[in-house]
Amino acid sequence: MATLIDGKKISNDIEMELAEEVRELVSRGLRPPHLAAVLVGDDGPSRTYVRNKIRACETVGYKSSLIKFAADVTEARLVEEIERLNKDDEIDGYIVQLPLPEHISVERITDHINHRKDVDGFTPTNFGKIDQEHHSHLPATPMGVMELLKRYAIQTKGKHCVVVGKSHIVGMPMGILLAGPGDATVTICHIFTQELARYTRMADILVVAVGKPNLITADMVKEGVVVIDVGINRVPDDTKKSGYALRGDVDFEAIEPKASFITPVPGGVGPMTIASLIMNTMAAYKARQGLAESLTE
Ligand code: NAD
Repeated sequence: MATLIDGKKISNDIEMELAEEVRELVSRGLRPPHLAAVLVGDDGPSRTYVRNKIRACETVGYKSSLIKFAADVTEARLVEEIERLNKDDEIDGYIVQLPLPEHISVERITDHINHRKDVDGFTPTNFGKIDQEHHSHLPATPMGVMELLKRYAIQTKGKHCVVVGKSHIVGMPMGILLAGPGDATVTICHIFTQELARYTRMADILVVAVGKPNLITADMVKEGVVVIDVGINRVPDDTKKSGYALRGDVDFEAIEPKASFITPVPGGVGPMTIASLIMNTMAAYKARQGLAESLTE
């Protein structure tokens, strides 16, 4: 029987810690941190994610701004807004919610984001600093996973960590964090990996970030494995009012008895991505206010 890694509880703890910090800052006459979110189009899940991020800001006492654009906004207009946010002294950090419509290049947009305000940790500068001691903002989801491992005292040093998925926002930075600061031996698997199970069975810690429900079945993991399920999938469910349920990438019911630790979906990694975002926003705020060592050049 595995220990459930309760991301909801840990993220609540982090929110309470940050709320206390904000109260203290405001009592000293300082303004609270300010996070802005840019939302393009009408994608249902994106709206939910942004709403949850704004709600987290309210919980901890940050100021937040939601900047909405229609799906047909031009790339040039979006870049103009990003340049404005870069210059706005009242904004400590901001996110551009992904995915963006196809006519807009995520890479070009990300290139315009000032890395000091890049609280999602997606810019090339922040990506390049993942492995450095004086990094600025770590990519939010892998940072959240590292925080979960730390708070559950799960050692990564010397362990074999297998990451399934190699996206720019989850899999790749996850691998770098585990091999770098985590001192683990890392295998990164992806769509072209042959015999995926051969690698997943070797994992002491298995991180799955693919977007395919039940990709990882019980026969693909060893006894005692630590399972971190990053996947978020909507699967049809008539018993739910919405008509769908959220599921991860692993067959939770079958794997849970074999694992030592496991994250549920929902309530595992998801809330930690938001917790990372608000931690990064606090770091950006402190650097801008001269309250902490300034973020590296
Ligand atoms: P992505 O589509 O950018 O990348 C998916 C990766 O999975 C790719 O590297 C691909 O090579 C790999 N892959 C696809 N099919 C595979 C297969 N059959 N076997 C092995 N590898 C395979 O996705 P992403 O943005 O990294 O997101 C992955 C999942 O994580 C999604 O479900 C997404 O919703 C979820 N996600 C969750 C959070 C969170 O906060 N919990 C944050 C970001 C993403």
